[in-house]
Amino acid sequence: MAIIEISNLKKSYGNLDVLKQITFNVNKNEVVAVIGPSGSGKSTMLRSLVNLEQIDNGNICVSGNYLVKDGAYVKPQEIKQITSKMGMVFQHFNLFPHLTVRENLELAPKTVKKEDSKEIHRRSSELLEKIGLTAWADSFPAKLSGGQKQRVAIARALMMNPEIMLFDEPTSALDPELTGEVLQVMKDLAQENMTMIVVTHEMGFAREVADRVVFMDNGEIVESGTPAELFTNPKFERTKAFLNRSL
Ligand code: ADP
Ligand code: MG
Repeated sequence: MAIIEISNLKKSYGNLDVLKQITFNVNKNEVVAVIGPSGSGKSTMLRSLVNLEQIDNGNICVSGNYLVKDGAYVKPQEIKQITSKMGMVFQHFNLFPHLTVRENLELAPKTVKKEDSKEIHRRSSELLEKIGLTAWADSFPAKLSGGQKQRVAIARALMMNPEIMLFDEPTSALDPELTGEVLQVMKDLAQENMTMIVVTHEMGFAREVADRVVFMDNGEIVESGTPAELFTNPKFERTKAFLNRSL
């Protein structure tokens, strides 16, 4: 069952067509890796899903609810409801520097969802445990390594109980020795059947964890398939050329 349905997505910046008729679905519990050269529109597509970018035309439907249909957006209140089903993790962790790790986790549930503080505390403790940072609960982000910060950013997104997690190159800003701990947290999430879209340059992760790999180039989805299909038997020259440069 498709939990995300994107069709005929179009977006331009002036003369630059950044997304040209993108169509693709993500099924519930599926892990989709999106790969492709810099500037191919990967971030724009992901950001469109959570309404950080507005598209010019096309459809985005999440869990059966349209965010935008034939280029027309639904009402602001509905937009909020739909985008709140998705948690997003960025390349640069964007933690609040003046808040402790635990406060970073608890801020949105407290202010946006106005949930019971006991329940919020229970969940932040559980997630801190999950990412292995219980001992850092009261530390400020500046004290953390990049890998630790990114784990906190993942936990913070999970605090909102998203149905879908979106990752935009979550390890690209990290020193190589710190990528493993972040990829491990993502792997654990995949194993727990979280629906995930992961824009990544980590081909090893895509091959091992993704159910499907989507190759984007120049605002288009060139091809998609299982990791085995796409990595060992790419159909298009553009895919082959990209993989030769990346593997
Ligand atoms: P990717 O994530 O695959 O590297 P992006 O989605 O970030 O690609 O960008 C796709 C294209 O859109 C690039 O050519 C980029 O320069 C351009 N672009 C992105 N954001 C803007 C913007 N706010 N204004 C103008 N051009 C932009
Ligand atoms: Mg990008």
